[in-house]
Amino acid sequence: MAKASETSNGSQPTIGEPYYCQECKRNHTKGKIYKEHLNFAKFGVEDKSSDIEAGDTQLEDSNVTEDEESFPEDEEYLPEDEYLPGEMDEDEVQNENGEDEDFDNEDLPLNIGESECVDAVKKLPGVGEATLKKLIKAGFSSLESIAYTPPSIIQEESGLGDKTTAKLIKASMEKLDIGFKSAEAVWEHRKNIARITTGSQELDNLFGGGIETGCVIELFGEFRTGKTQLAHQLCVNVQLPKEDGGLEGNALYIDTEGTFRPERIIQMAEGLDLDHKKVLKNIVFGRAYNSDHQVLLIKEATNLIREKNIKLIVVDSLIGHFRSEYVGRGTLANRQQTINAHLHDLLRLTDIFPELSVIVTNQVQSKPDVFYGNPTVAAGGNIVAHGSTIRVYLRKGKGEQRVAKMIDAPHLPEGEAVFSITENGIND
Ligand code: ADP
Ligand code: MG
Repeated sequence: MAKASETSNGSQPTIGEPYYCQECKRNHTKGKIYKEHLNFAKFGVEDKSSDIEAGDTQLEDSNVTEDEESFPEDEEYLPEDEYLPGEMDEDEVQNENGEDEDFDNEDLPLNIGESECVDAVKKLPGVGEATLKKLIKAGFSSLESIAYTPPSIIQEESGLGDKTTAKLIKASMEKLDIGFKSAEAVWEHRKNIARITTGSQELDNLFGGGIETGCVIELFGEFRTGKTQLAHQLCVNVQLPKEDGGLEGNALYIDTEGTFRPERIIQMAEGLDLDHKKVLKNIVFGRAYNSDHQVLLIKEATNLIREKNIKLIVVDSLIGHFRSEYVGRGTLANRQQTINAHLHDLLRLTDIFPELSVIVTNQVQSKPDVFYGNPTVAAGGNIVAHGSTIRVYLRKGKGEQRVAKMIDAPHLPEGEAVFSITENGIND
């Protein structure tokens, strides 16, 4: 695992402390969001940010060069300057009516495209060009992303003031008609939940007919219990036609451990008689080099989900980076808080996109000294357990067999399923 960040004296930084990032050879502040870092990590270049749209991580673009063809003109992108969250508050002043007003004192050309979502944001009351620019730049390019994000986060990341933020959230919620609704309406919504087949009938039954959309599913278990294999299989299966158990959608795979293997995708695609080239193309891959980067990739995912018809997000693994980076710092609370926020970013995505499934993996600690009898305690502790909506514990069976146990699901009975990992992927 890449150890990406250290402070000047070689110790691990705490939140708010500056550290030298070995990935981009620059200084960052732990816990803050830096697009330059994202762009470096995604494309291996410095200062390409002015050419690159945030979230534009396509598999086929992974060898991005100076070649302009990689950035088609009709793609949205934003010019990037050195931007520090929270620095722009002084732009925001009140006019004589006591209303917030943003002055556009940055001489930046605004090129944000004309998507429907951006258009809806533009039409919110009080949104001028400067406010819009800040929102888009911080990734809030739809009503949903504004309505579902806590005000403090919008403020920190966009640099907008609290009054403006509160107004924007209220207006977005009104436009989206968010508020109380009847149980019948909730049922209408749940009736539309779709499912992705795992490839194993037994496992599908355990999940009530496959992995459902609109929620976060945590797969946890020891090393080699099939978490990564199952995640690979779902990236293939989500692409299947609906009648074959898919969602006719694409997948976004965030790999924190370097265990994503296209070879396995090819084998699994061939096992289903699919064109493996197409299947690979439809999986957007992002390698997260450290926990900040991992958090950032998910924060940037909203546009990508819409543009690339993403129906499944995999984060494999959810807390590996956090565990290694926060070790011995006596800042467990910090760690849990950051993981919690990250998990809520994921949950929020499933609110915004009801047709989206999120799979996170979590390796349990099996060392006897940290393991007090209960094999179903995941490494992230209670935070992860409470934030996830469905939790499944995996363990080894005989040979290629694996056993999945439903631990925690609001509407599914506890139970177990046996499945196999074969050359062609997951089956019974
Ligand atoms: P983890 O839970 O640590 O993510 P993995 O999902 O990587 O575990 O599972 C690893 C297991 O998957 C291996 O031990 C092996 O049993 C099985 N596996 C991996 N590749 C293949 C393959 N090509 N053919 C059959 N089984 C495989
Ligand atoms: Mg794994």
